[in-house]
Amino acid sequence: MKTAVIVIDMINDFVAGIFKNERAKNIIPSIKQLLNFAHNDKIPVIYANDAHLPNVDTEFDVWGQHAVVGTWGAQIVEELRPERGDFVLQKRRYSAFQGTDLDQLLRELKVDTLVLTGVITDICVQHTAADAFFKGYKIIVPEDCVETANEQTQKAALGYLKRVYGSKITRANEIVKKWS
Ligand code: ZN
Repeated sequence: MKTAVIVIDMINDFVAGIFKNERAKNIIPSIKQLLNFAHNDKIPVIYANDAHLPNVDTEFDVWGQHAVVGTWGAQIVEELRPERGDFVLQKRRYSAFQGTDLDQLLRELKVDTLVLTGVITDICVQHTAADAFFKGYKIIVPEDCVETANEQTQKAALGYLKRVYGSKITRANEIVKKWS
């Protein structure tokens, strides 16, 4: 089993900007803990960030403009700034696989298991999990490293991820224990 950590949409617009979300802010320390261990253990860290084309992307019909490529809103939050050797992918759809070379990268890294972190649990995390499942990756979701609008939606989304994609729902410190 070779693992990679995927960090989804931990960018300013989803934490402090247009979609400001205190709950998203609260998962930063757990993600940070995971990334520190991943870096120490040479586990690949891959960021997948919304980087929408202004006025073009179909998502804007649903959500309005957000995370426009090149803006502050599309930048990774300060606390989780990538380190040397991390991978940063730009996406224009919910799924981190859509229109990116994530699958190719994971295959080159010989990764078969994904630890999914970031926001939003029931949107971009869930759609990334769907594509990961279709492509045959195993999925681990530390529940303290993903967030959404409220507790009820969070519970429902985690239940869905477990039931439909066989995701292992755990916590950051449990993963870190296994790594160390
Ligand atoms: Zn978006």
